[in-house]
Amino acid sequence: VATPTRHYIITLLPDDGIGPEVISVAKNVLQLTGSLEGIEFGFKEMPVGGAALDLTGVPLPEETLLAAKQSDAVLLGAIGGYKWDKNQKHFKPEIGLLQLREGLKVFANLRPACVLPQLVDASTLKKEVAEGVDLMVVRELTGGIYFGKPRGFGTNENGDEIGFNTEVYATYEIDRIARVAFETARKRGRKLCSVDKANVLEASMLWRQRVMAISSEYPDVELSHMYVDNAAMQLVCNPKQFDTIITNNIFGDILSDEASMITGSIGLLPSASLGEAGPGLFEPIHGSAPDIAGQDKANPLATVLSAAMLLKYGLGEEKASQRIETAVLDTLNRGFRTGDIYSEGNKLVGCKDMGEEVLNSISPKI
Ligand code: ATP
Ligand code: MG
Repeated sequence: VATPTRHYIITLLPDDGIGPEVISVAKNVLQLTGSLEGIEFGFKEMPVGGAALDLTGVPLPEETLLAAKQSDAVLLGAIGGYKWDKNQKHFKPEIGLLQLREGLKVFANLRPACVLPQLVDASTLKKEVAEGVDLMVVRELTGGIYFGKPRGFGTNENGDEIGFNTEVYATYEIDRIARVAFETARKRGRKLCSVDKANVLEASMLWRQRVMAISSEYPDVELSHMYVDNAAMQLVCNPKQFDTIITNNIFGDILSDEASMITGSIGLLPSASLGEAGPGLFEPIHGSAPDIAGQDKANPLATVLSAAMLLKYGLGEEKASQRIETAVLDTLNRGFRTGDIYSEGNKLVGCKDMGEEVLNSISPKI
């Protein structure tokens, strides 16, 4: 019995720099994958960032947020560029991304860091250390010290000027990110490491206590704890020990950048931002790359892999997601490389051709 066709509405936010080039590739990949898996996509393209500023005067038009909220998932290309860095007095295009995250209430940021066997030489680490790394950082995105109050400037009792911030986490904030992390670990290697500073910080003590409490709902996932200073060190000396890492906003900011550099290739790394209900936001971790925009040089694989995350974590379509990941590996195995990951002996291709090769890997033309 054939499974009935599933329908999903996807909001595409291609916008600035290389965004349109990489989104166009990812859209074709989703469409072909869908046709083989009994999935039908309705795509709605909306403006955001610098392009939206030029068009409407704001970086996140109301219509764009509404379309995003009403869809099943959102796929974003990139935001920002030289043009707006210079002239905008009031709004920066990047504000659009913050407003979008806030509007979609996406509190969980998932960033995988995977060292592909084909690209192990791109890693900043020694081959023996880098080989086989496949980890995921789950970062709390809407709480902690970046948002905690009180914050500001003042003076202390000696009349010295001070700046201060507050690390605050409420039980519900920890519980919901913990559940996302346990669910994520469950779809991966069933090992979760919670990173905190519970020897010094009260917010971290509550964090650890709540993560332990939630772990009783996930007896199949093995939980461990690590202090953040140790975790930063372990990530570069023995990253293979990690499967899924859960941590707060500020530690996750730092550790996810550290983890991504283990792979050495910014053009390959996807990300997902998830809320409790409602659509998730999926985007490559790289920016708009204005230096290569419009030249057909961008690596589209980070966005293609973001589309794979969209299927897995956003829609629960794990088989379709796997099909895309396999196709990306196959494309690399066949030697195709964009400039950012090129090494001698391989075939140098542009953004469009890389996209065509991924399509060929998904459905070989005989
Ligand atoms: P952000 O917008 O997050 O501030 P950024 O300006 O720090 O980002 P990027 O726009 O990501 O940085 O670009 C950094 C460098 O990496 C540039 O030289 C850019 O050309 C390159 N780069 C980024 N993404 C890609 C890609 N998909 N393919 C090839 N090169 C890329
Ligand atoms: Mg930039």
